[in-house]
Amino acid sequence: MEAVLQPTPLAGEHEDWLHRLSANLMETDWSAPLRPIADKLAINAPLNLADGLVLFNHPDLHEVGALANAVREARFGRQAFFNSNVHINQTNICVLACRFCAFRRGPKAGDAYAMSVEEYMEDLSKYAHAIDEVHSVGGLHPEWGVEHYEDLFRRVSNEHPHISIKALTAVEIKHLGQRSSISTYEVLQRLSRSGLTSLPGGGAEILDDDVRAVICNGKESSQEYIQIHREAHKAGLPSNCTMLFGTIETLEQRLQHMISLRSLNNETRGFQCFVPYPFLPDDTRLPQAQLATGTEVLRTIAVSRLMLNNIPHIKAYRMNIGDHLAELGLQYGADDIDGTVQKESIMHLAGSTAPLNHDRAKLARLINDAGCTPVQRNTTYTAFEPYTPPPVQERRSLPMATL
Ligand code: SF4
Repeated sequence: MEAVLQPTPLAGEHEDWLHRLSANLMETDWSAPLRPIADKLAINAPLNLADGLVLFNHPDLHEVGALANAVREARFGRQAFFNSNVHINQTNICVLACRFCAFRRGPKAGDAYAMSVEEYMEDLSKYAHAIDEVHSVGGLHPEWGVEHYEDLFRRVSNEHPHISIKALTAVEIKHLGQRSSISTYEVLQRLSRSGLTSLPGGGAEILDDDVRAVICNGKESSQEYIQIHREAHKAGLPSNCTMLFGTIETLEQRLQHMISLRSLNNETRGFQCFVPYPFLPDDTRLPQAQLATGTEVLRTIAVSRLMLNNIPHIKAYRMNIGDHLAELGLQYGADDIDGTVQKESIMHLAGSTAPLNHDRAKLARLINDAGCTPVQRNTTYTAFEPYTPPPVQERRSLPMATL
């Protein structure tokens, strides 16, 4: 049985959020199935799998969203966080071939690429003036070991000290350990010394080895994902964690996934943000995938907020779900929409149409339109600055004759 967490203020949270939470939850007359869940949430007791199933199966989606929103507002009010970042995917060459992945290429493919350190730096320099984070994940290159990334991260840190490096998924860390014949913990320590700031958390998919055997055979096991993040936190590297849903998993497997992440965070407190995103099917090899509908995306965001009482931030990842659903996600428990991004391949090759040309002002307007207050954050959620977008021309109605 997990302990009831003490209300320790975490990154960006109101200090008295537990008091606010009890008050928020008392204000509403929740329906009978949700009342016992609201009572648990009011004392920040962790929800169990049965509670999660009630939330997933509750017929009134809006009530589940309202419950998640009550928790989100107690912790953060109407603040919604974003950052200024760019995604650089350093190589698409990968020794694995996960069936949900539209990004990877074999080394001989015509459009296979692997950026040298020089090419990466050249690319980064185009964006460096406008960002404070570079997010880099990629394929498992058959020839790159830890030394390659030590060189790269040193160059980034030396030439752009204002940029935080959020890079590499757990399976990339495992691959580097195998290539360089060292432990994953040593990989993490060496990369931390070279300038790595945090891990983005991708690659969790569903932490169930039966599901993984079908959708990403050969990737790290569920336990390895957890262990590598445990080691990252021990090495002083905070991380995000993710969930890819809408492939072949059951609701129970989604919930167990969240419970596994919550358990690790009770131990390490190193997870900053949870990012649930649906499978996008273009150019993938998973015809049996269920695919998630828009309402299922919103419900999963809401359930994530309610299940993960010790992971402060829940992201509505607009690179995957698009701007419109991300805006709605901010009403369903999410408090973050990721960043300006500007350049991204992995989600777009799988079918995302999320715009890549948003500057801070556009993102802030999107957040304002969702009824929230834009707050720019740094990579590790330790620095926050309210951001007011420049005024836009008032929208005018068109004369009837032109409609
Ligand atoms: S998801 Fe990652 S590990 Fe799997 S094939 Fe794609 S690039 Fe390779």
